[in-house]
Amino acid sequence: MQIQQSFNLSHHNTFKVPAVCPQYFEPSTLEELTEAYQTCKGNFYLLGEGSNTLFIDNQAPLIIRPKFMGKSITTIKNAVLLTVSCGENWHELVQYCVENNYYGIENLALIPGSVGAAPVQNIGAYGVELSDVIQSVSWFDFSQQQVIELDNKACEFGYRDSIFKQSLQGKGVIVSVTLKLAKEFQPKLSYKGLNFEQEKLTAKDVMERVITIRESKLPDPNKLPNAGSFFKNPMISKEVYHTLIAKHPDMPAFKVTEQTFKLAAGWLIEHAGLKGYRENGVGVHHNQALVLVNYKHVKGLRIIELATLVMEKVQAKFGILLAPEVRIVDHQGLTSIPEITN
Ligand SMILES: Cc1cc2nc3c(=O)[nH]c(=O)nc-3n(C[C@H](O)[C@H](O)[C@H](O)COP(=O)(O)OP(=O)(O)OC[C@H]3O[C@@H](n4cnc5c(N)ncnc54)[C@H](O)[C@@H]3O)c2cc1C
Repeated sequence: MQIQQSFNLSHHNTFKVPAVCPQYFEPSTLEELTEAYQTCKGNFYLLGEGSNTLFIDNQAPLIIRPKFMGKSITTIKNAVLLTVSCGENWHELVQYCVENNYYGIENLALIPGSVGAAPVQNIGAYGVELSDVIQSVSWFDFSQQQVIELDNKACEFGYRDSIFKQSLQGKGVIVSVTLKLAKEFQPKLSYKGLNFEQEKLTAKDVMERVITIRESKLPDPNKLPNAGSFFKNPMISKEVYHTLIAKHPDMPAFKVTEQTFKLAAGWLIEHAGLKGYRENGVGVHHNQALVLVNYKHVKGLRIIELATLVMEKVQAKFGILLAPEVRIVDHQGLTSIPEITN
């Protein structure tokens, strides 16, 4: 197994913040994973491609970066079960599926990151969530020292949420993911922008359109370091919705259930006056206010200061407390932004 000392993580997180970890392990088998876990004595951060991670201290904890690779396919009636190891890249998997006529994840093209991290926040975009196609997740449980199969229901998927962020956080590793993909293409075009003129539509057409929209809307982290949406879209009750919409009639909102509405965090940030705001080498992107950008590759704490300002302004204007989608990591491991109270 590759073990590196004093490893520089600045190219292993899409915010490009400077951080160094004392030891960096890249296990590619269960034996190596167990060895890494035992060496770390339970005190480490599990890293994929770092596209949803913000290191806020110059010193990072010990890092385990699972690098299990490979895929296998079983054909069943009208579908395939595709098992993919955690170290594979998500977008390359989408391309592979489109090329091989396995349908269901074409709307999730160009989302950065590893396959292993995808179920953690139940990645979603353009009307599709990973949970729509997950058959099961293979989970290596540290305490039992064995792989357990979790079916879709056991993963407790929600909006940017799963059991892996909740009760299983820090207790094991997703070693592979099994997707159930259709052999017949049924386009999912509910998202505006995915409207097509032609009659004979292919999954490649949808994937290419998604890529075009994403490239026009979202800054490329290789040019402007960022981690996509910094905050989750807030869920609010019907009562709060009615109060807010009376004051802000043009506020976009999506009815999730009879009692719950989802708001667009980007709209709230923009209307709190912060779109394009820039200070201390960091800023709110000028086209997409939900994206915080590390323009000058400065330290992670600068992004936390900006995120705190955004949270304060949005709370002052709308009474809504935004919650980060990005995973925040200090020198000890996962942490959170200090809470703001009224
Ligand atoms: C430009 C940009 C656009 C984005 N667009 C979207 C989008 O449209 N939709 C969306 O949902 N997300 C989006 N994201 C966020 C990000 O791409 C996803 O969250 C992605 O799944 C993160 O993968 P990663 O490997 O980089 O995760 P990391 O940041 O490395 O890790 C994320 C979390 O997963 C955990 N983890 C990593 N690997 C494993 C494993 N094998 N087992 C268990 N836990 C693990 C980590 O401990 C951490 O808690 C975007 C990010 C960027 C930079």
